[in-house]
Amino acid sequence: MQNTDSMKTALTLLLTCVLALLVTACSQESGDAGVTPEKAQPAPPAILLITLDTTRADSLGIETDRVETPNLDALADRGVYFSQAYSVTPTTLPSHTSMLTGLYPADHHIRENGRVVDKTLDLLPALLKDRGYTTAAFVSGFPLASQFGLSRGFDLYDDVFASGATERTATGTTDLAIDWLKEEKGKPGPLFIWVHYYDPHEPYQPPEPFLSQYPADPYLGEIAYMDQEVGRLVSAFEEQFQEQPWNIMVVGDHGEGLGDHGEMLHGNLLYQATMRVPLMIAGTGIEAGTMGRAVSVRQVFDTVLDWAGDSRAGGLLGEQAEPVLAEALKPYLQYGWQPQFMAVLDGIKVIRSGDTEIYDIRVDPEETDNLDSQLEPDPALWDAIDAYSTRALAAPAEKQQALSQEALDKLASLGYVGSTGSTRIREDAPNPRDMVYLFHDMDVGAGLFIRRDYRAAIPVFTRILEADPYNFMAALRLAVAYSVTDNEAEAQKSFDRARAIDPTSVDLRHYQAMHYLKNKQWDLAGPLFESVLAESPGQLPDLEGLAQVYTRQGEIKKALLVLQNIVQIKESPGLEWARIGQLRMTLHDTKGAIRAFEAARSKLGDDFTFHLELGMLYMADRRFNDAAKSLDSVSSQHPGYSMALFKRAQASVLLKEPDRENRVRQAWIHADKTTRPMFESERLFQNIQYR
Ligand SMILES: [Zn+2]
Repeated sequence: MQNTDSMKTALTLLLTCVLALLVTACSQESGDAGVTPEKAQPAPPAILLITLDTTRADSLGIETDRVETPNLDALADRGVYFSQAYSVTPTTLPSHTSMLTGLYPADHHIRENGRVVDKTLDLLPALLKDRGYTTAAFVSGFPLASQFGLSRGFDLYDDVFASGATERTATGTTDLAIDWLKEEKGKPGPLFIWVHYYDPHEPYQPPEPFLSQYPADPYLGEIAYMDQEVGRLVSAFEEQFQEQPWNIMVVGDHGEGLGDHGEMLHGNLLYQATMRVPLMIAGTGIEAGTMGRAVSVRQVFDTVLDWAGDSRAGGLLGEQAEPVLAEALKPYLQYGWQPQFMAVLDGIKVIRSGDTEIYDIRVDPEETDNLDSQLEPDPALWDAIDAYSTRALAAPAEKQQALSQEALDKLASLGYVGSTGSTRIREDAPNPRDMVYLFHDMDVGAGLFIRRDYRAAIPVFTRILEADPYNFMAALRLAVAYSVTDNEAEAQKSFDRARAIDPTSVDLRHYQAMHYLKNKQWDLAGPLFESVLAESPGQLPDLEGLAQVYTRQGEIKKALLVLQNIVQIKESPGLEWARIGQLRMTLHDTKGAIRAFEAARSKLGDDFTFHLELGMLYMADRRFNDAAKSLDSVSSQHPGYSMALFKRAQASVLLKEPDRENRVRQAWIHADKTTRPMFESERLFQNIQYR
């Protein structure tokens, strides 16, 4: 009770400060006796940032009575609720990257999930660490796994999901975050903790009792469940810091279509359902109120730094009223449809994607009445959207990093499939809002493709091409699906179709090279691999394909050069080192081959199966002890076992081992048609009775 009372007193004091003033300014006004304003440096607050994945602003109790979210409602009541907060793009990783960098996607270049955040960007946790903060993050969905780069600068980045899982529940994440808070209790220095909840992302499967409470709307059930866990986390946080300053921010990364404007999920369109997100701040120095001005999730960055004492102009409570911007480039990057941009200022929202839509969202929040040609928005809106779209289209999409198949599978299982980053607007580029009927097939087809279920993907891509004949992605993937399922005629037809749509595509050359490789058409595959690698030198599948082509063509030196390149970049290049060893053997480069096989052995460990080759090479190099050891490791199941015994017997005689005569006899007993004639001419065995 005492704590609640003292908090109330503090709040009353702060109520005298105008909204938007931080405690630094307020404490100077209220003037603690005996402390000069210059020295009144407030302790930096503990900061809790909660991000709610896939949460529509109108899915919280603050805005609708269809759901109960008492904890978030209470926080919004105590703090400032932003009723016009916007995501920068309706996708998880880019949106969170904007929160942690303060930049729009056009400037941080993360347009989709599955990209890796550039190491040169300043991330929020690193800047907080500079100010003495201990930083920790607990994320709940694979799109934010540390491999995508947002973990940089955090002291702790917990993204451990159950084996094979792509997300963890709010309860699991909350438990870990609360445990960490307890561990840090009493340690010096302020804390920054970011907790990300993923539950509202589809599939919508809330635990009981929420499933039963929301039988007709499990999405809202997930929201209500998440709210319960937010409540637990916020209580633990506030309890721990009751004697100290603290701030909390809750923000959504994007919403969910749920059928609005024909979109079920998120990522393809820029309407309010996926773009307007919940956003609230509360804590020390923050007076209760609501803010109706449009703000962007990228302002999380400046706001948190401001709280930490690194004064910034762009915070959520700052003075500036500039247009809030956003993009939705997935349909453009993946299918060549119109790129989409958005700007909001003073209740007017403009969407540009080929044509222009203008909505007065104050009176038409469902965006049903396009006011284009009836309303002339503030010129600042046009300028902002023009400048942004120019910048966004000029910036090349970040090149797809070589993600593991496991990572691609996990993203695909969450409905995310990366584009190839071909930034080209088709001549017939349709407006994504007119193509909503294809969104489902596009996502399903792409998912099947990533999971290599090519047979099931064929009818899906065929359907897409009937509706959208110039869809390059569908044509190319259909070609690959036919190639892999050995339908040669249809594969060629689809490759030709893809080439007619985009003759410059690197992806087309890559997949067609793989097709020729599969058909052992080395002379056709080689130049295509070479041309892909001229543009993207580090592409492992193409390097591996080219090494295979050169080897089959007898171009041993060229193959070696490619393999040397592969072992530099591949994580565990054991088999490649063995290939190098084999090729060096054909060139009679004994020492080079030994070095390569030794490298292979150290990489492969127990999986190394080239003991015979290495043993024979050691023999040729007169390293008989090494040879003996290698040859002893040849399995009796190995097709060259007879040869191994023969060579081992030679080594034994040369080493004058006591059991050498028995070794020769054993080799003779196990001799095959290759080694038997070798005994006749073997002078080392002349004085041994082995027959
Ligand atoms: Zn998300």
